Amino acid sequence: VLKEYQRGLNMSVRVRFAPSPTGHIHVGNVRTALFNYLFAKNKGGKFILRIEDTDLERSSLESENLIYEDLNWLGFEWDEGPKQGGDFGPYRQTERIGLYNEYAEKLLTSGHAYKCYCTKEELDAEREEAAKNKQTYKYSKRCRNLTSEQIEQFEAEGREASIRFKVDADVIPVDDMVKGLVEFKTDAIGDFVIVRQGGVPIYNFVCVIDDALMNITHVIRGDDHHINTPKQKIIYDALGFELPQFAHIPMILGEDKSKLSKRHGNTSVEQFRNQGYLAEALFNFLALLSWSHPEEKEILTPEELFEVFSLDRVSNSAAVFDFGKLKWMNGQYIRALDVEKLAELAAPFAISSGVLTDEFVNNENEKYLSMIASVQDKLELLADVSEQIEVFVKYTEPGDDCADVLGMETTPAVLKAFKDKLAGSESITAEEYKVITKEIQKETGAKGKALFMALRIGMSGKTKGSDLDKIATILNAVEITERLEKTLSFIG
Ligand code: GLU
Repeated sequence: VLKEYQRGLNMSVRVRFAPSPTGHIHVGNVRTALFNYLFAKNKGGKFILRIEDTDLERSSLESENLIYEDLNWLGFEWDEGPKQGGDFGPYRQTERIGLYNEYAEKLLTSGHAYKCYCTKEELDAEREEAAKNKQTYKYSKRCRNLTSEQIEQFEAEGREASIRFKVDADVIPVDDMVKGLVEFKTDAIGDFVIVRQGGVPIYNFVCVIDDALMNITHVIRGDDHHINTPKQKIIYDALGFELPQFAHIPMILGEDKSKLSKRHGNTSVEQFRNQGYLAEALFNFLALLSWSHPEEKEILTPEELFEVFSLDRVSNSAAVFDFGKLKWMNGQYIRALDVEKLAELAAPFAISSGVLTDEFVNNENEKYLSMIASVQDKLELLADVSEQIEVFVKYTEPGDDCADVLGMETTPAVLKAFKDKLAGSESITAEEYKVITKEIQKETGAKGKALFMALRIGMSGKTKGSDLDKIATILNAVEITERLEKTLSFIG
């Protein structure tokens, strides 16, 4: 049976992303998924999704769905996994318990593992003793060589057994494509539990069974798991499984060089999505955390990344998450979108902020598209759209910052002249607007701030905002006239 699972020499690349379903995916894990994905694409291999849900208390189906949602949004497609199927399933660990039991049995039979009947109290006492003597705790191996009488006795007492894996080597060498060869000393490893009392198998054990049976060729994951790898390695060896190649990628830090966490800003995919980051921008940005393009190119499409990604350009030093750079990159991606696409992506933001209604977007699509086109190069986030387009649907009462311009001698004349020139037209073009402003300048003598700021406040009630010719051409003449009248009434 083993043989059929073993990889032939020409086995093509198979990698996996193995999240635990405990909520939306953290950006660190998305980067792990991404490196696996890029590596698979680059090698023409398979990207497998496996749900590690054996921790029943922390896992939920709801969280699992959030993972699919996040991965779909980012554009990941898995070749095998839940919802997709594949020859090596099932792909959810809770559906593989039978397999884990089978392999735990094998390890018991071959003598690589043994049943441990120690109670929690006994183990706590061992731990306390070690602490008292200032020693690193390591299981005493008390149950390693129990006689059959002792076993019978424990079972008669109704004690439940866990299963422990025997650790005999003093050092366990582990090779890693990013970290290089590391010799892990076993002083602190001790015989470790692979199946808990009550039968729940433990990560380090199930991970090996799954990776081996799913023919995973490269295990690419966060370096918080580097420390687990020696334990996994000796399980591979004990079961006669061929070892995959390991690549542990460095962690992501916040700008203050501490581990990236909520206090640095967004950390889950959902938060980035809700603020109006584009999936493509996040995808691109994350690819550059501890990996770099051979020519240091930064804006890279998924296809370009598939083409050039390689594990040997993954650095062994932690990456700093530069939120400012991500924002900049997002702006670049927004500018590169078709206006129609941008309008579609921005609509939910404009609607949820209350600036536009659903009806407006649907019934006045033409106008909506011009509004979006006029602000496209001002957006860094999709959420910026509301503030930017508000002027096209709303006149704001001039505030104190408008007082000096409204108080200028020429301002009433400027606004009146503009009103007169609009009379009779339905709307004006940018060209017409230019001619009109020249005429107003000639007629009133106002120029510079006295002219342009007066027109801006006249049309919007604000001192800042979109380009004037955009406001003048996207609004129709009636709307502008009403706004000019309102502003005039403020001058009194
Ligand atoms: N479920 C583990 C995690 O999310 C997977 C670790 C691994 O890739 O082996 O951290």
